Amino acid sequence: MNESVEKAIDSLWNEELLFLKTVASYDSTLGNEREVQLFIEEYLKDMGLQTDSFDVDTDKVSKYRNYGQPEWGYKDRPVVVGTRKSEGDGKSLILQAHIDVVDAGPESHWEGHAYTPRIKDGRMYGRGVLDMKGGLAANIFALKALEAAGVSLGGDVQIQTVIEEEVTGNGALALLEAGYTADGALIPEPTQHRILTSQVGVIYLRVTVKGAGAHVERAEQAQNAVMKAYKVIEALEGYREHINGQEKHPAFKSHPHPLNVNVGKMKGGDWTSSVPVECVFEARVGCYPGTDPKDIQKEVKSWLLKASEEDEWLRENPPEIEFFGFNAHGFEMDTGSELYETMAASHRRVKGSDVENLSFTATTDVRAFDEFGIPVTCYGPTGGDMHAPNEYMDLESLKDTTKAIAYFMMDWCNSRKD
Ligand SMILES: [Zn+2]
Repeated sequence: MNESVEKAIDSLWNEELLFLKTVASYDSTLGNEREVQLFIEEYLKDMGLQTDSFDVDTDKVSKYRNYGQPEWGYKDRPVVVGTRKSEGDGKSLILQAHIDVVDAGPESHWEGHAYTPRIKDGRMYGRGVLDMKGGLAANIFALKALEAAGVSLGGDVQIQTVIEEEVTGNGALALLEAGYTADGALIPEPTQHRILTSQVGVIYLRVTVKGAGAHVERAEQAQNAVMKAYKVIEALEGYREHINGQEKHPAFKSHPHPLNVNVGKMKGGDWTSSVPVECVFEARVGCYPGTDPKDIQKEVKSWLLKASEEDEWLRENPPEIEFFGFNAHGFEMDTGSELYETMAASHRRVKGSDVENLSFTATTDVRAFDEFGIPVTCYGPTGGDMHAPNEYMDLESLKDTTKAIAYFMMDWCNSRKD
């Protein structure tokens, strides 16, 4: 059976690459997910899957603890699911991928175009190829290969594609809330063939620093908002050192710097010879599993306000601090679970070695499944420059991931429900 599955993956390989190139040619950044989602829904329909797609309803998902605060609407930004029904009494499975990608950044930093995927030296380059349209291709072609090889599955399989993994996680919540649940779930994020066993929580914040404007010629009477924002950013750096200097969470003991703080966006000033009256920056802060992101919000806010008191201007004009997007709790997996064992065995069959565990210093949609009590992990391909120019995936690792997912499905869906 193994041989015929691997053969099917080999013979579908060019089709898998073409599928990946196609989905990676869509710019599916925040707000632009519709076209690729429609393409995927049609693709799943052509495979004979029962499909559904709908927009996220914030009234329905806002009650969940991992709900992220959006600052935009959800119209025409569907989540998609395709279900392959089974007559058997085996466990059901969700294979999920997020379709949203982060901004490609300045085009001059890319060799070639970010949304014109290209293959060179065994790698495919392009925004979203690694994170995580490659994983989506693996999900779909693992199922296709099993069917081509005549393997019948004892449990239902859902292929899900969601939006906003990169900013709120509300897409994953929406499908689960609508009843698209299962006995287990796998998300092939690019884990470099490791099993994700824990991940940090994440919050986003926006800081608005006010100045007092003037022409540059009497700048000494003015307060430069950009320079004042610099002081607040220094305070945030102090916070980063503070949290990483504390006792580490057991899952992250061996990690040199588990809690990253990133200033990711900044805007200040309007004219070269005017003193800026406002500077706004956005930052991402990590926290350990077991902490409530709401408590971290309070902690960051009071840290920054306290530091601002040391500056005469900021004391009188404290920065405004708001929170948006991620309100993501951390995650820890039971490594004695059947899901873990099944994934570890699938890895061994493909790679011939024991799998390594990954304590991930960023977040993924696994926490939504965790909130619904569904066993879940991430396992996926290798590559580099995720969230950076010239993002790429190693194609051989995509093939291995496709095989590992196929084996995982065979074992999981053919084992009896508990
Ligand atoms: Zn991702």
